[in-house]
This record gives sequence, structure tokens and C-alpha cells, in this order.
Amino acid sequence: LRSVKSFEEILKQGEFSQPDLVRMLKAEGADRTALFSAAAARKEAVVGKKVYFRGLVEFSNVCSKDCLYCGIRQSNSKVVRYEAADEDILAACRFAWENRFGSVVLQSGELSSSTFINRVDQLLRQIKALSKGELGITLSCGEQSRETYQRWFNSGAHRYLLRIESSNPELYGKIHPNNAHHSFEKRLECLQLLKECGYQVGTGVMIGLPFQTMDDLANDLLFLKQIDIDMVGMGPYIEHEDTPLYAYRHLITSKQERFDLALRMVAALRLLMPDINIAAATALQAIDPAGREKAVKIGANIIMPNLTPSAFRKDYQLYEDKPCLDEDADQCRNCLEARIELAGSEIGYGEWGDSNHFSRRQ
Ligand code: SAM
Ligand code: SF4
Repeated sequence: LRSVKSFEEILKQGEFSQPDLVRMLKAEGADRTALFSAAAARKEAVVGKKVYFRGLVEFSNVCSKDCLYCGIRQSNSKVVRYEAADEDILAACRFAWENRFGSVVLQSGELSSSTFINRVDQLLRQIKALSKGELGITLSCGEQSRETYQRWFNSGAHRYLLRIESSNPELYGKIHPNNAHHSFEKRLECLQLLKECGYQVGTGVMIGLPFQTMDDLANDLLFLKQIDIDMVGMGPYIEHEDTPLYAYRHLITSKQERFDLALRMVAALRLLMPDINIAAATALQAIDPAGREKAVKIGANIIMPNLTPSAFRKDYQLYEDKPCLDEDADQCRNCLEARIELAGSEIGYGEWGDSNHFSRRQ
């Protein structure tokens, strides 16, 4: 008879099979506690106690795509579209630099016009200049050509976030319109292009989507390992009533369950890929006010305080109950500091906080 591995034995392994990961994602009671403490210990041993801030600037909600889950999709005519002025974007970046955040993330809807590409390029140069080259810059502006990625890299961006959303092509097809503008293959190709251009590459998935299974999520974790990713941002899927996916809300679990599943995903990923950067997703905080700190305790090491000019925050509603709508940047920083300390970590001020995994891969 083949002996069945105990959960404790699984956690001590260096490699994990798909069934091992499914067991982690379903862990409850004592097993859940053991998973969280194993991941916390692994994190401290490999990446240490520091949490790095990336100031998030959502500089435009204009988007040419129609992802079926996203509140700012092009077809949502209720959204008031904005493009923040250069001076406001630069002021947010200056705030990040003066407060020694280390890095900023410029995020937007996806556009491919030359006006947009040139604008991002200019912003990158200006941010580098105002921070004397000190601020690290991450971009999250969707799918672009190799030339555009390379151009932005050459102008100062060195990390890029592009979530695969789901590594199951069939599920990807269900949550995106069925056209060439929303192709799974293109998404994969972009992740490869980003790597070839020299970026530290981040991807991730939404957790608790309609039609998604535990097998899908375990496969997502194996996918992240297989593509040798440097950084991951993944969080719960949260419904938005003005999106097509809202019609399938009867197929999703409660917000609390999605939240807890997201924590188990973070812990399992820390065990699977101990040296990568893992962000505590903002969507966690939309469900539980202390959500990001809980993720930091059990494996995450990156937090993205929102530095979007407050006038625009209500218009960047990807999902319902998005947090910090009326906070200014100072309040945001103070509140986070207190929370990180509560989570037993310290903030890596003034450091880029590059992924150890990326440094090893060079
Ligand atoms: N447009 C770029 C892109 O799609 O890569 C960057 C901005 S997009 C708003 C950033 C991420 O928001 C997406 O990758 C997606 O995972 C997440 N997102 C969108 N709608 C969401 C929802 N309803 N619940 C949770 N996350 C969502
Ligand atoms: Fe646009 Fe990104 Fe939202 Fe898709 S997820 S609709 S690309 S902003």
C-alpha cells in the first residue's frame, strides 16, 4: 500500500505537485494554520522582514478593451473618463520620492495610439529626472508591441505588470470577449517579450472567478513557476454591477471565502517560489480593511499605496467597494505604516526592493 503523505510532510517538501497545491488551497483548521506559519517562516528566511512600497498612480482610465469583469471596460458608458495631467502625475511621483517610497507604478487602461505611447515615454523620462534616477518605475499599461516595451524600458521603466488573469485558456476565453483584441496567446507572448526586453516581469490571476476551479488555481501557481516569473500580484475577483460578468455572480463564493482563498494562494506561492516579490493586492483590502496586512503576515512583501490624485479615484472603480477613495497620499502613508508594523514587518524605505529571483536570473 502506498502511504498517503500527511499535510505537515507536504509543507516540508521543496517541490510541490498539483495535488499538493490543491490540498494547500483547501486547507482548513490546523492545516490552514500550519500552511500560514510555514509560508511566514519561508518568507522571513528567504526575503526577510522588509515590505517595499510602490506608489500606485492610476493615471488614466481610458481603455480600448472590454474585459468582462472590469469596471472601466470601454463599453461601460457610466464611467467618467479621465487622463491625469502630467503635472499631477509628476507631483504624485515627487511625493513618492520625497517620502522615500523607492518605486512608483504607473497604471492605466490599455491604449496603443502613438499619442499614448509617446506620453508614457515622456513621463518616464521626467520621473527619472525629478528623482535623480532614484525612483524605480513599474509600468502596468497592458499589451503593447515589442518596440513599445523596448522604448519604455530604454526610457527608464524596469518592471512591468501584466496579469495573465487565468492560465487556463478556456477560462480566459470565458472572461474576455471572443475576438483577436482579447487573445490568450497574445497575452502570453507579451509576457515573453517583456522578459526579452529586460524587464522584471510581474503577472498574476484573479481568485474566485465564476467558472474557476481549485484545479485551475493550482495550475495557475504551477504556471507562475513554469514561466519563471519575478513578481506576482494576485487578488480576489470582486464583482462590479456594470460589467457582463456580474450576471454570473450566483456562481461565485462569498467575498470572505474568496478572501481566504486568496490568502492561501499567497501562502502556497511563497512556498513554491520563495524568492519572488509577492504583492498584497488592493482587492484584499476591499473585502477586509486589514486584508493587505494579513497577506504580508503570511507571504507577501510588496504593498502599493494609492497615490492617484484623489479627484480621479472614484473613476478608477475596477470593482465595487474599492478602498481609500477619499484619502490623500499623506493619510495613506501614515495609515499603512501603522498597519505594517502591526503585521510585524518593517518598511524598506528608499530601496527599490528588486525581486531576489530577478537578480539570480541575471
Ligand atoms: N489595463 C491594464 C491591464 O489590464 O493589464 C492595467 C490595468 S487593469 C485595471 C489591472 C488589473 O485589474 C487587471 O489585470 C485585473 O486583474 C484587475 N481587475 C480588473 N477588474 C477586476 C475585478 N472586477 N476584480 C478584481 N480585479 C480586477
Ligand atoms: Fe482595460 Fe485593463 Fe480593465 Fe481590461 S482589465 S478593461 S485592459 S483596464
